[in-house]
Amino acid sequence: MTDFGIKEALLELGLQDINNGTSTGSNNFSNGEIIESYSPVDGKLIGSVKATTKEDYEKVMDAATKAFLSFRDMPAPQRGEIVRQFGNKLREKKEALGKLVSYEMGKSYQEGLGEVQEMIDICDFAVGLSRQLNGQTIPSERPGHVMREQWHPLGVVGIISAFNFPVAVWAWNTALAWICGDVCVWKASEKAPLCSVACQNIIAEILKDNNLPEGISCIINGDYKVGEMMTTDTRIPLVSATGSTRMGRIVGATVAKRFGKSLLELGGNNAIIITPTADLKVVVPGAVFGAVGTCGQRCTSTRRLIIHESVYDKVRDAIVGAYGQIKIGNPLDETKHVGPLIDHDAVNTYLAAIEKAKAEGGNVLVEGGVLKGEGYESGCYVKPAIIEAENHFEIVQHETFAPILYLMKYSGEVENAIGKQNGVAQGLSSAIMTNEMKEAEKFLSYAGSDCGIANVNIGTSGAEIGGAFGGEKETGGGRESGSDAWKVYMRRQTNTINYSDELPLAQGIKFDL
Ligand code: NAD
Repeated sequence: MTDFGIKEALLELGLQDINNGTSTGSNNFSNGEIIESYSPVDGKLIGSVKATTKEDYEKVMDAATKAFLSFRDMPAPQRGEIVRQFGNKLREKKEALGKLVSYEMGKSYQEGLGEVQEMIDICDFAVGLSRQLNGQTIPSERPGHVMREQWHPLGVVGIISAFNFPVAVWAWNTALAWICGDVCVWKASEKAPLCSVACQNIIAEILKDNNLPEGISCIINGDYKVGEMMTTDTRIPLVSATGSTRMGRIVGATVAKRFGKSLLELGGNNAIIITPTADLKVVVPGAVFGAVGTCGQRCTSTRRLIIHESVYDKVRDAIVGAYGQIKIGNPLDETKHVGPLIDHDAVNTYLAAIEKAKAEGGNVLVEGGVLKGEGYESGCYVKPAIIEAENHFEIVQHETFAPILYLMKYSGEVENAIGKQNGVAQGLSSAIMTNEMKEAEKFLSYAGSDCGIANVNIGTSGAEIGGAFGGEKETGGGRESGSDAWKVYMRRQTNTINYSDELPLAQGIKFDL
């Protein structure tokens, strides 16, 4: 069987031979236990890394804190030049890195390429931004005075990332953090460690070519215990953490306890409202890609369809019909739409969720199940399922990170659908399919969707980097990527300058000596 060029991709990324079982990236001082990375695609061992011990961590932090002192001296547009070179190197390595993402994480090769493209896009965005880290001048109430606002680098930014976007989340954070003058320490998901090593190898080459210390970009490996080294560390003013709400609840509290800042990007429970005027040509691909893309393992995956009763049967039949066309298999094979889940735990969670939905009264329209036989040897391939359910079911209220789509009806006005859409604890992404201007505007208004992302006539997944990305409620409230998300990576300073010969006090306070 072809390996779809994986071996070549690994070599191009500076990772050792696929069957060798070892792989260490530059700037990885790790000496701890071995973490093996098995591909959910074929169940084979891809390679392994060593976990970071406390002593290793201290070495990393030493390199990072030293690097910060010189990196912050570099003018921001020059830091932008480093990010420009990084983006260009990613263009060269796009196919190889996209393949590794697909093979280690299991998303389709097209989505793997898309993930690398997001890294390239955020680099381009950051390069321009490196000349626009603008503060403002503010009129002072006192004669001969001026006020202004400046943005200064923060220091060491800690990044904790999830398995499902094993390279892009890092780049969303680092590209901005670097132009802001920060240095980064990254703890990638223990489920996709080789992706982090590949990324580190790419940036290490750029830093070396530019005679810059490698401490500007550091990686540490391991599970939550290694993450905790960062969340409790007062040398890290900002921890950007992407993952489950369960993780965010702990990380947010730990970082807040020491008065650090956290940027939390947590779980979603995303819905599409389908109104009577919705165009099926848009609804079907939008809903199906949203529900089954990345095998339902995107934070923005579509979990719920809230369909007006007048079009319910038509929409249901069209979606169920489209599920019949889905090809499941090796994600590197471009004829396949859906690859595997990340691991056997994820498969068990998926199976348990289907059983729970049934037990709560759900009506299964498209049966799920684990695929067996040739090509499915890893045991991680599952069938995307569709279940008619009620919004209040406990399982529907919960984010199951798998391809299970819940269908439900609404009647009457769009407000009823918005009520259901908002009636969950999470607040990441949402969408409405409508050709009624008033419905769309209501959905986007303050009384509409309560999510960080609200779309009209496109699905819930597939955000562009130009906008700020993130969500409300249990999604954590953080924003990263575009718009003014850069501000979280800097500290704001307000200055008042007196160029007069007097010292008038603010608010007209008299203090005569
Ligand atoms: P996870 O929460 O299991 O792990 C995420 C990361 O957090 C891992 O690196 C893990 O080691 C680390 N971690 C866990 N507990 C920790 C602790 N106490 N202290 C420090 N670090 C800790 O999540 P996952 O299964 O890898 O990813 C899936 C989840 O991520 C889903 O809920 C998904 O919605 C969410 N996600 C959200 C976004 C977003 O932008 N909102 C993006 C991608 C994924």
